[in-house]
Amino acid sequence: MPARAADVAIVGAGILGIAHAYALARRGHSVAVYERSSQAAGASVRNFGMIWPIGQPAGRMHEMALRSRELWIEVLEAARLPYFPAGSLHAVYRADEADVAREFCERAPDLGYTCEWLNAAQALVRSRALRPEGLIGAIWSPTEITVDPRVALAQLPRFLGEQFGVRFHWNTAVCDIDALQASAAIVCTGHDFETLYPEVLRSSGVTRCKLQMMRTRPQPESWQLGPALAAGLTLRFYESFRICRTLDALRQRIAAEMPEYDRWGIHVLVSQTAGGELTIGDSHEYGAAVSPFDRAEIDELILSYARGFLQAPGLEIAQHWHGVYAKHPEQPFLALSPAPHVRVVTATGGAGMTLSFGLAEDTVKEMGF
Ligand SMILES: Cc1cc2nc3c(=O)[nH]c(=O)nc-3n(C[C@H](O)[C@H](O)[C@H](O)COP(=O)(O)OP(=O)(O)OC[C@H]3O[C@@H](n4cnc5c(N)ncnc54)[C@H](O)[C@@H]3O)c2cc1C
Repeated sequence: MPARAADVAIVGAGILGIAHAYALARRGHSVAVYERSSQAAGASVRNFGMIWPIGQPAGRMHEMALRSRELWIEVLEAARLPYFPAGSLHAVYRADEADVAREFCERAPDLGYTCEWLNAAQALVRSRALRPEGLIGAIWSPTEITVDPRVALAQLPRFLGEQFGVRFHWNTAVCDIDALQASAAIVCTGHDFETLYPEVLRSSGVTRCKLQMMRTRPQPESWQLGPALAAGLTLRFYESFRICRTLDALRQRIAAEMPEYDRWGIHVLVSQTAGGELTIGDSHEYGAAVSPFDRAEIDELILSYARGFLQAPGLEIAQHWHGVYAKHPEQPFLALSPAPHVRVVTATGGAGMTLSFGLAEDTVKEMGF
């Protein structure tokens, strides 16, 4: 490694590494990123690409998500990368789901959310991908955007290199921060808790979550998903909906009627890629040990639920995979200082794409850059 390679060394070229590199580089600092693989291959390329402020709890995290969204758009525009600023719909087909959705739309605007209750006819105007049979209505929110994670994570390093001179060292596993010879380091190594600062991470209480995902073949060019889709199961998943008094009844009904969905932590989201495929998932299995083997049963449960609200020209599945993220049981992310001038930033759970650029901006400000 060259002496004093950069002002700041970043370990990991997932979205947190990229976002921190951008935050520093646009402030004029020299940055070197070290990634052990030949390209990002962790949670950041395995997700839906949803920038999803509506899922964040009111207050600091929702504000961070909105700021992150602004920065995402700034960088996507500058890098000329595709994205869909199409918002989101949470579609509801049961009375208890509609109670939660309506209550959220009444209370959330006072807390800073931009959202609106749509009846079935209005929701169907917003989306041709929703099944009309039994649809009661939907929460419409314009703030969500979808990026193509595989395209963005492959292209953003090139953009950061060309635009800001950020240097990427691929196939370079970092085992010792001091060897990097930088004035400061930011460690964004996702769910790797074993290589750098294992004691610090182990004692932080962080764990892992495994998620199963699928992708269809490309839809015809004439058909667009429009807003990214969620449905009733998602209302019990994101923290933002915990403001609803009606949520308990929905949770209880799902636990009684659909225990296998609780068992595997399933809720169903649908987004579209730049190439027209639909990304459909997901499940949540928590624990430090992640099984390398996926369960066909989980994919079937996800697809069966998706077919209840989603209509698209082709739902034949072309790819199955799983992703793993780091998650803290109580905190929305971890920012630890295991040594002077070193920050470990991880455990953004299911919201790392959403929070990335906003969180990175906060980190570099706190570090005095
Ligand atoms: C299936 C799935 C769906 C999701 N959907 C969404 C979504 O739609 N919206 C959303 O906001 N969030 C979503 N998330 C969460 C989001 O993807 C993660 O929070 C985020 O990608 C974490 O980014 P990261 O940079 O911390 O980790 P990663 O993407 O895992 O990147 C860490 C990188 O560090 C590298 N690395 C590790 N150790 C070393 C080392 N010692 N030296 C060098 N390199 C190292 C790894 O190779 C890896 O490339 C989803 C996650 C999953 C798994």
